[in-house]
Amino acid sequence: MTYSKGYMDRAEQVLLHTYNRFPVVLERGDGVRLYDVDGKEYLDFAAGIAVFALGYNNRKYNQALKDQIDKVIHTSNLFYNVPMTEAAEKLVKATGLSRVFFTNSGTEAIEGAIKVARKYAYLKDGSTDHEIIAMENSFHGRSLGALSVTGNTHYQEPFKPLIGGIRFARFNDLDSVKAQLTEKTCAVIMETVQGEGGIYPADPEFLAGVRKLCDERDILLILDEIQCGMGRTGTMFACQDYGVLPDVMTCAKALGCGVPVGAFVLNEKTAAASLVPGDHGTTYGGNPLACAAVSKVFDLFEEDHILEHVREITPYLEEKLDALVDKYDFLAARRGKGLMQGLVLEGKPVGEVISRAIENGLLVISAGGNVLRMVPPLVIGRDDVDEMIEKLEKSF
Ligand SMILES: *Cc1c(COP(=O)(O)O)cnc(C)c1O
Repeated sequence: MTYSKGYMDRAEQVLLHTYNRFPVVLERGDGVRLYDVDGKEYLDFAAGIAVFALGYNNRKYNQALKDQIDKVIHTSNLFYNVPMTEAAEKLVKATGLSRVFFTNSGTEAIEGAIKVARKYAYLKDGSTDHEIIAMENSFHGRSLGALSVTGNTHYQEPFKPLIGGIRFARFNDLDSVKAQLTEKTCAVIMETVQGEGGIYPADPEFLAGVRKLCDERDILLILDEIQCGMGRTGTMFACQDYGVLPDVMTCAKALGCGVPVGAFVLNEKTAAASLVPGDHGTTYGGNPLACAAVSKVFDLFEEDHILEHVREITPYLEEKLDALVDKYDFLAARRGKGLMQGLVLEGKPVGEVISRAIENGLLVISAGGNVLRMVPPLVIGRDDVDEMIEKLEKSF
């Protein structure tokens, strides 16, 4: 019996069964490769779901965390700490927005953004029945607030009643957003590129149109950049490629490159008229260890020219994936932006392809039921793309 099998059996005795995991017990990583407890090597095109942007076992990143561990790991928000300030300065600069609240996850960043929107509207008219427009097919997290704006009835149904005042519009359909607008609307929330729903980038006219609607009525635009942000699409945040800035942006996933951390970031207008002391809090959020990671991630993005690299490698990856779509009938399309790509499968279960890919030493994941999702570490090279294509073809 392999080591893996023993660990899997033990895990299934003690973990709540909320995931049907792939039969791999990962132990360590190096660059764009992961190794399981049996020593098997995997080329990683999943990055822990778009998290580990810098590649595994990055010495400079690891050292920054080790240094912080030796200073202090946790202080609480009752005091200031240095990494939190530095990380916030870098995040403000990167987003073009002005105020940061650190959370421990993406879903908490969404909760915060929802509270910001409600408070902003409350301060304007004192009423407590404001509405938020969210998108069908979206994903914003699993806590009750985040689930309420997640356009997936299967995820929502057993947990109702959810928070009230949420209306759903169709993504990339401006008229459907207009149809949901009422005088109570306080925010529109959407991913700039829908991730879990199946890799759907926003149409530029749609995003610009929603921004304009929000401006005209003083409605907050919340852009969820948790998956598509942090360089994944070739700009620091995906919305920057559209020339659109939100009032509130949510970040997580690659923000800490593996350390659990998220943030919601507000522009000055919103920050000046929403949450005040007593409105929101967190014990861990802004934790020095997590923020030392965030701070180092921003430094390494610059030092290692990550954005330039993503822009350079993207056309090569797209060309190779497009060639697959031409070659195989069951591949209906490629969709995506930068290193956030999806292959749409028709008549072949995506789960089977993924299982075979894993056997062949390639980690890929799915999205939206029939999409093979690729969200590799942002440091992949051409050789890695070639190897991925070879392993994927072997798995078809
Ligand atoms: C992953 C994800 C979330 C939830 O983040 P967690 O850290 O899992 O809570 C929210 N929005 C988007 C777009 C995501 O991809």
